[in-house]
Amino acid sequence: MPRAFNFSAGPSAIPEEVLREAAAEMLDYKGSGMSVMEMSHRSQAYQAIIDDAEATLRRIMAIPDNYRVLFMQGGATLQFAAVPMNLMRGRHAGYLVSGNWSKKAWLEACKYGQADVLASSEDTSFDRVPTLASPVDQGLDYVYLCQNETVYGTMYHDLPDTGGVPLVADLSSMFLSCPVDVSRYGLIFAGVQKNAGPAGNTIVIVRDDLLGDVPALGDVVPTYMGYRLQASKGSMYNTPNTWGIYLCGKVFHWIEESGGLVAMRERNWKKVNRLYDYLDQSALFSPLAQGPSRSIANVTFRAPSPELDAAFVAGAAERNIVGIKGHRVLGGLRASCYNAVPAKAIDALLAYMADFESTRA
Ligand code: PMP
Repeated sequence: MPRAFNFSAGPSAIPEEVLREAAAEMLDYKGSGMSVMEMSHRSQAYQAIIDDAEATLRRIMAIPDNYRVLFMQGGATLQFAAVPMNLMRGRHAGYLVSGNWSKKAWLEACKYGQADVLASSEDTSFDRVPTLASPVDQGLDYVYLCQNETVYGTMYHDLPDTGGVPLVADLSSMFLSCPVDVSRYGLIFAGVQKNAGPAGNTIVIVRDDLLGDVPALGDVVPTYMGYRLQASKGSMYNTPNTWGIYLCGKVFHWIEESGGLVAMRERNWKKVNRLYDYLDQSALFSPLAQGPSRSIANVTFRAPSPELDAAFVAGAAERNIVGIKGHRVLGGLRASCYNAVPAKAIDALLAYMADFESTRA
């Protein structure tokens, strides 16, 4: 069976070169006589793997020295709680609600303190990103946003001006899709299962001065979830997801060798713009995200009826095109075009869309 044209929103395509390398090292990692999965996380060989993964990530993202990099578990979802638990020192934060994921994060934060919705685009069915209408209250602990909304296919192309208030961003579905200026954020987190590796790790990049001596909520915070503790233990307070970090490290090298994040950005916009261009002229399919808010990764659209959406998904499978069903909260269709989705997958999808449209016209 040839490799599928995989448009899944995550877990999603991993570069073939990375998979081949991991396969070649499966039974004997560099003369250790075992796979990385079988290796103690306290071994020298493993320490070298996690150190190299962090160093490579720091290079490709140009992460300043005053930021810590943490490899955590519990998915991006656990960070919805970890962020307020660690950072909500005045029990008051602001949230920009641009869709499914920031709404969930906001609801989670409401458990721990006052979480104000500073702007929301729910009234337009999250077809765009909401922007701040007034200056941010400088007494807030942080302002939170999800920079790329995976379900609705929208993205902040410019960051809001939060003055001196730290910006916290869920970058999950645009992490490593393009360069970001890390110094603009107080904290970034991302589930790795889109662009960075297999599911099971969440990367947190946090500015030193936000760590504090103890988490904002004090001793009730699960020890594991304390950012300072995790930073002081090099993400090894307990057993980390060793295999996942190893594969992430390989993906980071693949990105570096493929031209880094500038090259990723160029390739990704080229891919999604071909789809947006098609959708903008199509008489059958409609794009769901407003032009200025469109995502670099997740292209959302629909056919005129749920039945046609379903027929499109079924026909796609016959052409080895998978993962294009929309998220269950929105329905419709979605093509997620992460780094490891090759241009030829876009060729295949576009050819299929045109064929489908011609038979339904
Ligand atoms: N944030 C965003 C932007 C996401 O796309 C997702 C999942 N796709 C999540 C958070 C939740 O991630 P996880 O399943 O890793 O908890």
